[in-house]
Amino acid sequence: RFISFEGGEGAGKSTQIKLLSERLQAAGFRTLVTREPGGSPGAEIIRHLLLSGIGGLIGGAKAETLLFAAARDDHVQTVIAPALADGQWVLCDRFSDSTRAYQGRLGAVPPALLNALERVTIDGLKPDLTLILDLPAEISLKRAAARRGDSAPDRFESEGLEFHRGLRDAFRQIAADEPKRCALIDADADIDTVAARIWGAVRQRLLL
Ligand code: C5P
Repeated sequence: RFISFEGGEGAGKSTQIKLLSERLQAAGFRTLVTREPGGSPGAEIIRHLLLSGIGGLIGGAKAETLLFAAARDDHVQTVIAPALADGQWVLCDRFSDSTRAYQGRLGAVPPALLNALERVTIDGLKPDLTLILDLPAEISLKRAAARRGDSAPDRFESEGLEFHRGLRDAFRQIAADEPKRCALIDADADIDTVAARIWGAVRQRLLL
């Protein structure tokens, strides 16, 4: 089984992915937790390129999208596909919906290019379930700032409220367009409550 976690900044994806992994393991399943951009040695190098200041030298959203695609291709080939073939549950922190939201909706990269790249990199390997952690933009902004503390924001974290609103909108649209694959999870609650919502969605859609 392949589950992706999506959502804006500060939605609690990494905390929740860990909790779901523990819960699945307790139920007897083998899990692999991974993330994008990154998740394989090669893709982690591309992640560093994209998120550090060096990323600012890359010429625009299209070039950036091609780098995300290269990272995804490596990640899918070397980590995700082998783990699925081995019978593990793969839990991925961000996947192709992040590209659609960030580079597509916010970066204005045309859908035709994103579709073409998805065909090449994912090649039919869509998540069985995508959990979209949904949070008001004001809270995303606050949580992302609190998490960051005094450290410098990555290139994408320094954006303002309008950016977070657009992002939330983009993810909600994806959930509405593909209700069979996507579960919209209200993430404006404490950690245990959100974890229970996620577990409910996983049980209902993949285990029952
Ligand atoms: O979820 P996480 O904070 O690890 O994501 C790393 C950064 O990469 C985020 O700031 C996110 O906004 C950005 N990102 C992006 N396009 C993607 C995936 C992630 O701009 N397709």
